[in-house]
Amino acid sequence: MEITKTVDLKMYINGEWKNATSGDSRPVINPADGKVIGYVAEGSVNDMKEAIEAARKAFDSGIWSELSAAERANYLFKIADKLEEYQEELTRLEISDNGKPFREADADVMDAAACFRYYAGLITKPDGETYHVPADMQAMVIKEPVGVCGLIVPWNYPLLMGVWKLAPALAAGNTVVFKPSEVTPITSAKLVEIFEEVGLPKGVCNLVFGAGAVVGNELVENPLIDKISFTGGTVTGKNIMRKAADSVKKVSLELGGKSPNIIFADADFETAVDYALFGIFAGSGQICAAGSRILVEESIYDRFVERFVERAQKIKVGPGHDPQSEMGPLVSSEHLEKVLSYIEVGKQEGARLACGGNRITANGLDQGYFVEPTVFVDVTSSMKIVQEEIFGPVVVIQKFKDEQEAIQLANDSVYGLAGSVFTIDGAKALRVIKKLRAGITWINTYHFTFNEAPWGGYKQSGIGRGLGTYGLEEYQEVKQININLSVEPIGWFEN
Ligand code: NAD
Repeated sequence: MEITKTVDLKMYINGEWKNATSGDSRPVINPADGKVIGYVAEGSVNDMKEAIEAARKAFDSGIWSELSAAERANYLFKIADKLEEYQEELTRLEISDNGKPFREADADVMDAAACFRYYAGLITKPDGETYHVPADMQAMVIKEPVGVCGLIVPWNYPLLMGVWKLAPALAAGNTVVFKPSEVTPITSAKLVEIFEEVGLPKGVCNLVFGAGAVVGNELVENPLIDKISFTGGTVTGKNIMRKAADSVKKVSLELGGKSPNIIFADADFETAVDYALFGIFAGSGQICAAGSRILVEESIYDRFVERFVERAQKIKVGPGHDPQSEMGPLVSSEHLEKVLSYIEVGKQEGARLACGGNRITANGLDQGYFVEPTVFVDVTSSMKIVQEEIFGPVVVIQKFKDEQEAIQLANDSVYGLAGSVFTIDGAKALRVIKKLRAGITWINTYHFTFNEAPWGGYKQSGIGRGLGTYGLEEYQEVKQININLSVEPIGWFEN
């Protein structure tokens, strides 16, 4: 199931596969063993400019935006079919590039196909509005594409985060410049190959690889771009928002999180433990909505910690290609260092390490970027490990006295992406959820989300929403049209 020969990834600009004009490339590393599995073109500012100009020209020509919605939907349906046709290959590539276990990578590909189908269906449904105005006028609103969109994507869901942006942007009639993470470029290139295979017109989707600070920055600053849709870290997002202000670009931001998972004493105990493990250790904790702060009611706190730690220690950590692996490596050596340094900070801050805390090197994992499932207890809200996004398999467990304190601790964060409540008291569950300052919430479950529902955060977790009808609107302008039904002079001025 692993990549057997080195991949060589080119950029896709105006319908042509191209190396970087500088000839530069960067190695792509398999995080399970540290081996080079390919090389990817390292784009420059000039490469990015060329892609932006191609996307601008394609948009202004109307080659895509002036197709009927049904015609565009037809392309999107074909892309979904192709994603399924290449499911096994895409899964294998994603595992080698990102490290995630088979069942996660496989689900990502299925979700990607479903996302294209959702937006293919949605774009052909009625939209726009008409208003009751005086009878000699007709007022209406129509939706139009924003124009040329820059799509900037992180490494934790390389294929799926791209698709969450590409599907609505293309459905709405925009042209795009797609900038994947430099760490995980492989499935983006495969996806764009699929676009070519289904005959997407030249210039509609352009793919540029390279450093965020170089090609990403050009995308954000270039005045030919109408909108930036960014998913990534909050610090990068703030920087992008500042820079985009110069040309008043529309900006959507899907940023970081430090999401609370609140467990009341009356919850179904084993269900709560099970979902709490899933909430933090799925994706090796590299999920923006990860339940990285578990809040447990005092009376079951000790029992919960004991059971949670017992199960966390049994998680099978290993390469994603091994069907036995339940948790994969971290994505890169840099990220490994970052996560390990947070673990050190936690110890120095006086939190008690209940389990984990180390890089895993046994059983042939020494060349990969594996970290033990790590649990900190006896933490206080002021600690860095409680406030900052670690983005790894590291969780903090806090104690609360009552409903009010649970809400106060849950909201004590600059982030507001997600949150969950476990209790069998339905009224209490909804009371607490309504008080949570977060955009994605769950009751008695975690992580499940649907193409139909909006994805995004409150506070410093972002601006705007992906997915659902809200996600389509992010890629649409709204135009009012007022029509005079009695075509005669107004007579405002006498002469
Ligand atoms: P990152 O911010 O380092 O990079 C994200 C993307 O931005 C990459 O493609 C990178 O090349 C690009 N970039 C970096 N600097 C840039 C700049 N100055 N201008 C333009 N582009 C630039 O994030 P990451 O480490 O790849 O991903 C992890 C982060 O993503 C976490 O904080 C996580 O919470 C967040 N995330 C959020 C969501 C969400 O839906 N809210 C989903 C997935 C990941």
